[in-house]
Amino acid sequence: MEIRIVEDVCTGCELCIKACAFNAISLVNKIAVINENCTLCGACVDACNFEAIEFNRPAAATDQSQEDLAAYRDIWTFVELSGNDEVRKVSLELLSTSREIADTLDERVGAVVLGADPGKHCDELAAHGADVIYLAEHDSLGEYSTRHYSRVMTDLITSHKPSVVLFPATHLGRDLAPRVAASVGTGLTADCTGLSVTDGLLLQSRPAFGGNIMADIICPNTRPQMATVRPNVLKVNEPICDPSAGIIRVPVTLAEEDDPRVVIKDVIRTIVQGSRNLEEVDIVVSGGRGLESSNNFSVLEELAETLGAAVGASRAAVDAGWRPRSDQVGQTGKTVSPKLYIACGISGKIQHQVGMKGSDIIVAINTDPEAPIFNIADYGIVGDLFEIVPVLNSEIQKIAGLEPKDDDSNC
Ligand code: FAD
Repeated sequence: MEIRIVEDVCTGCELCIKACAFNAISLVNKIAVINENCTLCGACVDACNFEAIEFNRPAAATDQSQEDLAAYRDIWTFVELSGNDEVRKVSLELLSTSREIADTLDERVGAVVLGADPGKHCDELAAHGADVIYLAEHDSLGEYSTRHYSRVMTDLITSHKPSVVLFPATHLGRDLAPRVAASVGTGLTADCTGLSVTDGLLLQSRPAFGGNIMADIICPNTRPQMATVRPNVLKVNEPICDPSAGIIRVPVTLAEEDDPRVVIKDVIRTIVQGSRNLEEVDIVVSGGRGLESSNNFSVLEELAETLGAAVGASRAAVDAGWRPRSDQVGQTGKTVSPKLYIACGISGKIQHQVGMKGSDIIVAINTDPEAPIFNIADYGIVGDLFEIVPVLNSEIQKIAGLEPKDDDSNC
């Protein structure tokens, strides 16, 4: 056993019992005794004021020495490009936060871009805080491939030793980051919703236990500290005027063993006529179980059309098959932070809130005055959405000088 009570020092104060989340300590003859429930988490050691618990934490196979850890410096962002070869907004969000973290730690910000022609993004990345831009240019990197991208990222991290590497929690980032973390022998906190610095370490915050609590996670024993971060939870800083950044062109050598096991023959990008990107629009009109059916969503679509908004949905509406999974807002859906979020017939459970509470203005329409959505709404309307939304729509159309649609038209 690596953990032991020093019996002649223990005072029986019970602080360790209160600190133990696993019911693994009890008092026997006024002395603490550790039982088989112990998970070696070490919480009791921190709680003991008398140094009465000896704990020899076994080093993990990947633990690094203090000298090794000190060799790692700089805060890196993996820059994801869109299908149109533009820097995705989430990459700028990560870069802006990397700037703040780097300033706190007195380190530099690195932006890493992989692609067939990544050099054209340097000005934008420098303007958003990059001190150094690593460009990995290769024809094979034009389209994402897990094996090629993870090979390049792993080599870069191994040779340059950044202390932090951030990835977007997008489909691409969620595929790439775990593989890179495993290759370099470090941990990964997935789907973070907040980042800060504590005692020189990256504090990675994310919802846990079904979104009911926020967990703050640190990575003290290995480097780099790695996280994926949800789009729209961090703010993009104002671009810097006259930025300057060093550019490092990274030689890309891809061996035969790096050849993708999956060959991408063609990429077909689908755009649903008239649909707008939920994560990037200024206004979102969302519906929940209160909509009662798929067809009833037309009332929200009309309002969305007037406002130039995207339509979102609660998980209840998605699970009912009324909206596609891609419309879901919340913990297991998308995180949005539009200027205006209109929640219609949504109760506002915590799992929904974590996906939209960063919106600038929240309007809630709900028949139940006690619905939790009203706790975070800037404007609340208690009433039937089927009466309110059409009135709202026609009033906005009048203000905007738009012709309201004539329902009785035979055209
Ligand atoms: P309900 O909670 O049933 O609320 C419907 C609301 O509509 C009620 O408040 C009612 O008063 C109102 N209403 C009814 N009729 C009308 C009317 N005519 N006019 C106006 N108001 C009306 N949920 C998400 O949304 N996103 C997630 O990503 C998500 N992830 C989850 C992850 C986990 C691990 C778990 C356990 C749950 C998750 N959920 C998520 C589910 C979440 O807990 C709620 O069950 C869900 O958000 C409820 O959806 P709702 O508000 O549409 O439905």
